[in-house]
Amino acid sequence: VKGDGIVVVGASLAGVTLARALREEGYDGRLTLVGEEPRPPYTRPPLTKQVLCGESGFDSLALPELGSDVEVLLGARARGLDLERRRVVLDGGEEIGFDRLAITTGAGARRLLPDGGAQPDPAETVVRSYDDALALRERMLAKPRMLIVGGGFIGIEIASAGRQLGCEVTIVDCRPPLRASLGPFLADLFVTAARAAGVRIVVRPEPGTPLREEGGRVAGISLADGTVLEGDLVVSAVGCAANVDWLEPTGLAGPAGVPVDDRCRVAPGIVAAGDVALHRGAGGRPRRTPHWLNAIDQAKAAARTLVHGDAAPTYSYSPYFWTEGFGIAARVAGPLPVAGEPSLRDGSDPSSRIFEWASRGPGRRTVAAVNRRVSVGKLRRLAGATPAGAET
Ligand SMILES: Cc1cc2nc3c(=O)[nH]c(=O)nc-3n(C[C@H](O)[C@H](O)[C@H](O)COP(=O)(O)OP(=O)(O)OC[C@H]3O[C@@H](n4cnc5c(N)ncnc54)[C@H](O)[C@@H]3O)c2cc1C
Repeated sequence: VKGDGIVVVGASLAGVTLARALREEGYDGRLTLVGEEPRPPYTRPPLTKQVLCGESGFDSLALPELGSDVEVLLGARARGLDLERRRVVLDGGEEIGFDRLAITTGAGARRLLPDGGAQPDPAETVVRSYDDALALRERMLAKPRMLIVGGGFIGIEIASAGRQLGCEVTIVDCRPPLRASLGPFLADLFVTAARAAGVRIVVRPEPGTPLREEGGRVAGISLADGTVLEGDLVVSAVGCAANVDWLEPTGLAGPAGVPVDDRCRVAPGIVAAGDVALHRGAGGRPRRTPHWLNAIDQAKAAARTLVHGDAAPTYSYSPYFWTEGFGIAARVAGPLPVAGEPSLRDGSDPSSRIFEWASRGPGRRTVAAVNRRVSVGKLRRLAGATPAGAET
């Protein structure tokens, strides 16, 4: 082994998967995983589902532990990267040398107010970490009038938990919830169920600004047309932004993320994977894919590149996504959003069905299992997708 080995910065789903995959691919040199969060690495999707509802504690979220041959530094934030000296610089000034580097610093929740409306009673709450979810649950237990800005899948999941805990819930968005991400048919399944559960949905061209009363209490949201939506708790679910501040002077990243090529390479000996990575999709436009399974598949592909270089297969994500709320669990393989009405692929049980949208080219069929447990592999096969990483 030469030099300082491989350093992986960002110790969550992509970082842990990448570190494990490096060992599986035969890398036996020095391996260091650096993560800002003090908690052991965990998975995020249950945060807005079981954690908010009080059905899961931290133990059930923990990612499988890495072997003792991986040095794991938690509570350690990278504040910079010295490309010339091949060093990661930590917040305390400590430096870690590397000869190959993986960037897996993911994304953080976007906010409407720059500082979330200041502490100790933030005017705006977000959910990205386990501690965010615990803090929000604590506030939801007082049954506040909740105003959720953003009707994407995270907003819908928080709304569902809110109703389950007895809160009054309003969703505010510039567009009808979920339509932009899922398409009208799947979006309407959730929206109909949300309305039936008593959620109020307000669609306005501007999402509005969180407001405080005199004395500092959260008062609601002020909309651009002057209307005020009153509430006690404002939750923003308006997407996420790549964690790239530590890379700023290096030129490796732009505000939208870290551009990668089709082998997840950023620069010689440097790869990126997961929510932070910006790659060219089928449409050719660089974009991030902030989905759980992309973080896993892309991290494995990036590890193969670090170990095998140009002999590694190229990576193209075969889209897979799931969400749950208001008693509906949808697992979807294939491109989203999907337009038009699907055909019923399997409707033998009306409460648990598989829908299919016609193919838009090879591997471009979309299949959705609604309230039906179908494995990722099977759903991807039904969608006619090639397994991730299999293309060369
Ligand atoms: C509430 C919630 C619900 C979700 N539900 C679903 C779902 O139902 N289905 C689905 O497909 N996807 C879902 N996702 C998305 C999925 O969780 C993400 O795609 C996945 O977490 C991405 O993993 P990652 O490792 O790339 O990034 P992240 O999970 O963002 O992890 C990045 C890690 O890097 C650390 N880090 C950042 N900057 C630094 C630094 N400078 N130095 C050191 N460490 C740093 C961060 O603290 C973090 O621990 C959900 C996400 C959230 C937040």
